[in-house]
Amino acid sequence: MLKNRIKKYAEELGLLIGFCSYNKYKELNDSRFNSNRLEFAKSIISVALPISRNDDELLASFALDKDYHIVLREKLSALREYILTQIDAKIEYFVDNGPVNEKLVAYLSGIGYFGKNSLIINELYGSYILLGELFIDIEFKSDFPVLNDCKNCSICMTHCPSEAIGNIYEKCISGYLQRKDVFPDRIYQMFNNIYGCDICISNCPKNKDVKSKKKYVFENLNLKDIIECSKSDFKKYSNCAFYWLGHKLMKRNAIIVASNKGINIDKELKYVHSKEDYILAAIDYYKRKSIR
Ligand code: SF4
Ligand code: SF4
Repeated sequence: MLKNRIKKYAEELGLLIGFCSYNKYKELNDSRFNSNRLEFAKSIISVALPISRNDDELLASFALDKDYHIVLREKLSALREYILTQIDAKIEYFVDNGPVNEKLVAYLSGIGYFGKNSLIINELYGSYILLGELFIDIEFKSDFPVLNDCKNCSICMTHCPSEAIGNIYEKCISGYLQRKDVFPDRIYQMFNNIYGCDICISNCPKNKDVKSKKKYVFENLNLKDIIECSKSDFKKYSNCAFYWLGHKLMKRNAIIVASNKGINIDKELKYVHSKEDYILAAIDYYKRKSIR
């Protein structure tokens, strides 16, 4: 059966995979993700890439290795090519870059269930999975959603410093790190990573068995280097998941994190010439923290 052959090939690529009906997805989807572009589809193949965990670095676990968008896109492209050797079809694939409610697709395809922190929890890999999907104009039998939930657990709520659980889009620290805004000190005080936040997933009991790797590509990232590097120097991070944010936002984040960690960056700040409000506010925060 074609579906089994696709599953087997996906496993060879190191992916978890599930199928759901496009109509079911459309029925349950919220209007933020509406798009005529996907109307050709009859099925959606949800794909999840398991990753390792790391609780000690300046980047969230998903960003410690080569940008997962690049890695997963290569795998989805290979999967698409494989399917096309088996059957004539129209296929579009996405990795965090389309009008797609990726978590809903993953849920409907049986990859996992929704945790209270809004992330999908897989039975084997917890929420240390990264999602992508293929839309295809072929009808496949759907997999079954995993009927499970967090029950009485509320550990992520207790640990989240910004009380974002239930209000993820507005209050998640990951989001603050991506916004070119000036924030009050109480928000800056929560910046411990320069990109992403792992606090809720690293404390989630469903993730306790997720393995940690020995070596990551971007571990021990140098805060000072990010603060002083020029736009062209920043290109050396082009394979990193945070590269899309640009060197100015990453400088802002690095200045705030250095301030919170009590690292002296007087020398590096001499190389920061940006006049944007959000950079000046970060420098001001550093100076105020240094005086105390
Ligand atoms: S990622 Fe961080 S800020 Fe966002 S919900 Fe989880 S603990 Fe809270
Ligand atoms: S910490 Fe508890 S409530 Fe939060 S996602 Fe994990 S299991 Fe669910």
